[in-house]
Amino acid sequence: GRVRQPGGRAAWQSLRMDPFEDTLRRLREAFHMGRTRSAEFRAAQLRGLGRFLHENKQLLHDALAQDLHKSAFESELSEVAISQGEITLALRNLRAWMKDEHVPKNLATQLDSAFIRKEPFGLVLIIAPWNYPLNLTLVPLVGALAAGNCVVLKPSEISKSMEKVLAEVLPRYLDESCFAVVLGGPQETGQLLEHRFDYIFFTGSPRVGKIVMTAAAKHLTPVTLELGGKNPCYVDDNCDPQTVANRVAWFRYFNAGQTCVAPDYVLCSPEMQERLLPALQSTITRFYGDDPQSSPNLGRIINQKQFQRLRALLGCGHVAIGGQSDESDRYIAPTVLVDVQETEPVMQEEIFGPILPIVNVRSVDEAIEFINRREKPLALYAFSNSSQVVKRVLTQTSSGGFCGNDGFMHMTLASLPFGGVGASGMGQYHGKFSFDTFSHHRACLLRRPGMEKLNALRYPPHSPRRLRV
Ligand code: NAD
Repeated sequence: GRVRQPGGRAAWQSLRMDPFEDTLRRLREAFHMGRTRSAEFRAAQLRGLGRFLHENKQLLHDALAQDLHKSAFESELSEVAISQGEITLALRNLRAWMKDEHVPKNLATQLDSAFIRKEPFGLVLIIAPWNYPLNLTLVPLVGALAAGNCVVLKPSEISKSMEKVLAEVLPRYLDESCFAVVLGGPQETGQLLEHRFDYIFFTGSPRVGKIVMTAAAKHLTPVTLELGGKNPCYVDDNCDPQTVANRVAWFRYFNAGQTCVAPDYVLCSPEMQERLLPALQSTITRFYGDDPQSSPNLGRIINQKQFQRLRALLGCGHVAIGGQSDESDRYIAPTVLVDVQETEPVMQEEIFGPILPIVNVRSVDEAIEFINRREKPLALYAFSNSSQVVKRVLTQTSSGGFCGNDGFMHMTLASLPFGGVGASGMGQYHGKFSFDTFSHHRACLLRRPGMEKLNALRYPPHSPRRLRV
């Protein structure tokens, strides 16, 4: 494990020494000293995050382009602006969020003060994935810092350029007695997880989510797990195919499909499929030109391992659109697959790439039944001109989030909680939900020392008469 720590000794100096111990002890001490408690301190950290984004914009865009070939537009929209928005919101509301929340009282506590105090957990660990390597580290970080915690951040080792920026540049903008970036892959993270944290916030795959939760259980540490899965997208016969094609293609091929809330597969009738395919073809050409590989607007697959996995998926069903790939460039064309069997790998695992299978169903009922036979997804989409149909899908299914007639736009509202349910995760964040996630809601009742006579009723010896109600 490599640890970014000013003046710290290199972690690998002694193999017997735990590389994380010093850092964690230092952060814990800072927390116990009360350093992170005041609103001023928290606001200063949040402003530091804002300056980090503002002063390093080009560096961040470059890192995202190197890791994922993200266009400046995608980087700005889905990474920088979202993070900045969360910072602005937290700064604007910090004092209101921090306020004790007074609650209704009963007869016996009428004269007392009853409230919920939002207090920081203490030392928080945030583990992030590679697909939105800035957004998915900074947005949780905003919540953790706003709530007054000390934070250890473990970025993904796979998005290497962003990992470097987060390790080398970000700490300069934060108080390093309360914040540290820790680097490493599965092995180092496993070692890190042996330590006791007061809260763990994990974004990544369900497989690693289980590892994190198991490690947390050893210390009874609470967790938020932001996981993934297969997000269904139901397209009703009563739809304009071109509108659906634009919206579905935009969010399926955004970041080359490496998005946890992207639609994983389309469910529609064979008739709708006939109308949807030419519309999708026309959208893809309009978005990325005749040769999508030369388009500046299409991302690349993060690494060879993911590329090989995705290329194998191109062999499922039949290619209706796209299907090309280029290993040297980690390029996979925006692809649509048809005649896909449920038993094929493309319908068994989360795709996480620019491949969209279409599975035929005969009715909305069959689509609902298909969705409910599977794990609860992170996001669910339904397209129809009939609001009845959209509401039916909403009511008869379950998922982390739901968006009717579009894709992942529900995520852009900080007033909505973001998170999964069942196999797609537990807990939520964004906006005030982040602050609440990273705060312990402490139940407080402050009673008066006087008026002891009023308590006589509850003390023994009890007279049977008093039980009358
Ligand atoms: P991942 O689970 O492989 O890795 C996530 C993090 O866990 C990384 O920091 C990695 O270093 C660490 N890690 C990996 N193996 C580990 C191990 N054995 N022990 C301890 N830590 C380990 O996920 P990924 O490939 O980076 O991201 C893709 C997955 O994340 C997809 O399933 C996607 O749906 C999901 N995701 C979810 C959200 C969300 O908000 N719900 C957002 C983005 C991605």
